[in-house]
Amino acid sequence: MASPVSKTGFQPRLIIHPFLGTRARPRCRFQSSTSTTTTRAPYYNEQASTNKTLDTVPARQDAPSVRAPLARLSTASILRTLFLGAVFRSPLLFRPGFAVFEKIANSPSVWMNPDKNPLLRMIVYPLVYKQFCAGRDQAEIAHTSAEVRRLGFSGVVLCYGKEVQVQGGTNDEFLGYNRNKVPALDAEVAQWEDGNIETLNMIAEGDWLGIKFTGAGTNITKALMDGDAAPERFVKAMDRICETAMSKGCRIWIDAEQQVLQPAIDRWTFDLMRRYNKPLGRQALVYNTIQAYLKSARDKVQHQLELAQREGWRPAIKLVRGAYIANDVRSKIHDTKEDTDASYNGIVEDLLQGRFPAQANQQPEEIDLLLAGHNTRTIRAAARLATDLAAHRKLQVRPEFAQLQGMADDIGCEIVQMADQVKVHDRASASSFVPKVYKCLTRGSIQECMQYLTRRLVENRGAGDRMKLSAAEYRHELLRRWGLSWNR
Ligand SMILES: Cc1cc2nc3c(=O)[nH]c(=O)nc-3n(C[C@H](O)[C@H](O)[C@H](O)COP(=O)(O)OP(=O)(O)OC[C@H]3O[C@@H](n4cnc5c(N)ncnc54)[C@H](O)[C@@H]3O)c2cc1C
Repeated sequence: MASPVSKTGFQPRLIIHPFLGTRARPRCRFQSSTSTTTTRAPYYNEQASTNKTLDTVPARQDAPSVRAPLARLSTASILRTLFLGAVFRSPLLFRPGFAVFEKIANSPSVWMNPDKNPLLRMIVYPLVYKQFCAGRDQAEIAHTSAEVRRLGFSGVVLCYGKEVQVQGGTNDEFLGYNRNKVPALDAEVAQWEDGNIETLNMIAEGDWLGIKFTGAGTNITKALMDGDAAPERFVKAMDRICETAMSKGCRIWIDAEQQVLQPAIDRWTFDLMRRYNKPLGRQALVYNTIQAYLKSARDKVQHQLELAQREGWRPAIKLVRGAYIANDVRSKIHDTKEDTDASYNGIVEDLLQGRFPAQANQQPEEIDLLLAGHNTRTIRAAARLATDLAAHRKLQVRPEFAQLQGMADDIGCEIVQMADQVKVHDRASASSFVPKVYKCLTRGSIQECMQYLTRRLVENRGAGDRMKLSAAEYRHELLRRWGLSWNR
């Protein structure tokens, strides 16, 4: 399924950007969010063979030997996607549907808890939990990960998921924080550390661990809010997590959170990157996350590249649009969805082509980039741009991709398909780009999963039009399976 919908859905099709087509709205490379003066060229036009826009390139170029992207999904998964998509796309059903999700997620009542009420579990587990969550124990998670790989994804990102959201300035009471409780901090961090090590033990070489610093408890959250240095116990925990991940051949991303926390999250993450993202020639272990909806996003990219260059470590960025728009300092966030889209797309386009000033002195492919998101146009355009640049040996940064489990499977499968086609036709030569795409899974009880989902429903509310388009693709696939489609 793609994501849920608000009644005031955005219109991604109105987004106009150089790498999305020739009718580009001009943007300046290092402009402030409000500046509009520029002379940026279309994404790539040095060679006649690539002098075309994405609008003129068919969305897919399937070889007859390669099956349709959605053919990879199980019929149960397609049916769930269509059903849940219809509920959350409908202006009539969205509110009651969301209210039911919230009630199940947060109710203290045994009757409303699907982990305790078998009747409720019989509905919620097959319909919702299986669609969006990895599993409740090691066996279920191993099964889900194997299924994700069988679909052709390169691996999984597994997250151990408590989430603290800060409401207002320095609300110690909300946080349950107590400055005298050093033992409490230690206990919280120890529990979180064990949870992350346990999570690492459930994944395999090539997979990722997704980490949220606020999951380490209220005392760590307060230290982040106060801009403190990372407490010693926390540094020790992260060292153990990083060393375990490195020994297993896994990577780690650190989530971006609200702005009151983010400066400290960035500093603590850079400390890890300084130590673990070496040598330069080896893929980075730790990625920090940059939220493109921030007006400062481009500066943050440039800052990381400069810092890494100065200090001799490998930069690694996970780029997202940003999840906290409803609960954060609005003035720091781009004014419109179109500006956020332009920011995200512009960063991708410039990184891939080595256009950030700090890239002038950087060797190609000495930066790692993961594009996390569900926006079909952006992800498809980024993969195609990387393909074109690689074919002309001009690709400076190889992007990888990630989506959340149960969401945007259409674009995820399309990228997997692209990779298969490259392998079949180009035999993956040095000048080919074989995209890698990962599925991000969350583990936990059914009620914890419902809490996680209500947050994702809120942050993905802008995807209405996109969902309508992808629902048509899912319907076609279903009809094709049932022998009722004449044109596919
Ligand atoms: C694998 C993965 C990991 C993620 N990790 C993080 C993380 O660490 N931190 C984090 O913050 N988020 C994270 N997210 C969530 C992400 O930031 C987005 O909220 C979510 O993916 C929806 O955006 P989109 O790019 O998929 O597409 P779209 O649906 O095209 O974009 C929706 C986004 O556009 C932006 N937007 C919407 N309305 C406006 C407006 N009026 N003005 C300005 N901007 C607007 C918001 O960022 C909104 O979330 C992650 C998402 C994925 C898939």
